[in-house]
Amino acid sequence: MNRHDKLMNAARRHLVQNYRQQPVILTRGEGCEVWDVRGQRYLDMTAGIAVCCLGHAHPKLTATLAMQAGRLIHASNLYFIETQLLLAETLAHRSFADRVFFCNSGGEANEAAIKLARRYQHVVAQRPEKISIIAAEGSFHGRTIATVSITGQEKYRKGFGPLFGPVKFVPFGDLEAMRAALADGTACAVILEPIQAEGGIIVPPAGYLRGVKEACVETGTVLIFDEVQTGVGRTGRLFGYEHEGVTPDVMTLAKGLAGGVPIGAMLASDEAAKGLQPLPGDAVTHASTFGGNALACAAALCVLDVIESESLLENCSEAGAYLGRGLERLVEKHGHIAVQARGRGLLRGLAVRQDAAGIVAAARERGVLLSIAGANVVRFVPPLTVRRDHLDEALGVLENVLATRAPAAAGTGA
Ligand code: PLP
Repeated sequence: MNRHDKLMNAARRHLVQNYRQQPVILTRGEGCEVWDVRGQRYLDMTAGIAVCCLGHAHPKLTATLAMQAGRLIHASNLYFIETQLLLAETLAHRSFADRVFFCNSGGEANEAAIKLARRYQHVVAQRPEKISIIAAEGSFHGRTIATVSITGQEKYRKGFGPLFGPVKFVPFGDLEAMRAALADGTACAVILEPIQAEGGIIVPPAGYLRGVKEACVETGTVLIFDEVQTGVGRTGRLFGYEHEGVTPDVMTLAKGLAGGVPIGAMLASDEAAKGLQPLPGDAVTHASTFGGNALACAAALCVLDVIESESLLENCSEAGAYLGRGLERLVEKHGHIAVQARGRGLLRGLAVRQDAAGIVAAARERGVLLSIAGANVVRFVPPLTVRRDHLDEALGVLENVLATRAPAAAGTGA
């Protein structure tokens, strides 16, 4: 039996069967390319789901990891950690935030934000009636029990009850619905993605986030932006909120922050951060053994440095606009399947009239890795280092796939 088949047997026998992986076993990568165990090369438009923002095996990140691994990988939050302090300072300087809590994933960062908001209202603002979370329909905030409860997609919640609550879902982009949900004064927090990513790459109308911020200020509600996918340069600015000129009280990051090394971060204003400050004599309010460890923080410092030194925000904006135009051309030429191109920077989607998974599988068979967002959107989240020739190759393959597919029976996906 060859190595691929042996490993596939191990996957079938020994992995919990929760995922639906593509039948590819990846072993290495370089830049925007990856290779599988059979030696087949793929162009990677997924970047580990918007994670590997410097591409694979970036020489500076590789050297930083090797160097830090030889110095200190982990020591816990019993002590201050040099790279964690430097990263907290850098994130605070480059964002609205004053303070940072580190963890290991997006879901954990959102958990921390929920705990902060609840305790802020209860202990700091002394408004214990403010307990509910308002989230948007179509949102995605993670897979822990609390974050799945505030995720506005029933398919992710079903079977896991009783869920965390109370949670109110409002239509994304509808300011009046948000105001109405806030009106009774019982919300402790509003959580929104500046662009809904997993839900189908949905950009809200201009002015929406600003209006939500004003409504939150009026009602004393903590505003949380989940920038797990939009953050760290993905939209062409370091953080997605910068496009709207509006700042939250709390922001969560993960994915791209350490270029592939697991990390999560919750950033907060001085005022909001009081929500997790213990009262004298109280226990520590929130913690993580691995959170902010020396290796992950060294990686994140390197990522932020390379984003600046290699002008990756500029590349993201230019390459993203080029990709956006390419996707629009596909809509013009293949309107029988392709409905709409949407997104910002290098967070882009092509809404299609049929199950996007079939299109993604066909592109993979032709050597291009893509992913889906929602059932009917083909998602592009390549490394921020992506070049035009990579995008031409990916668009060419996608066009081939679209050209060979029959029109769908019913129109969906817009
Ligand atoms: N929030 C958003 C906006 C996400 O896109 C994701 C993951 O896709 C998460 C939270 C959850 O992050 P993680 O899988 O690191 O827990």
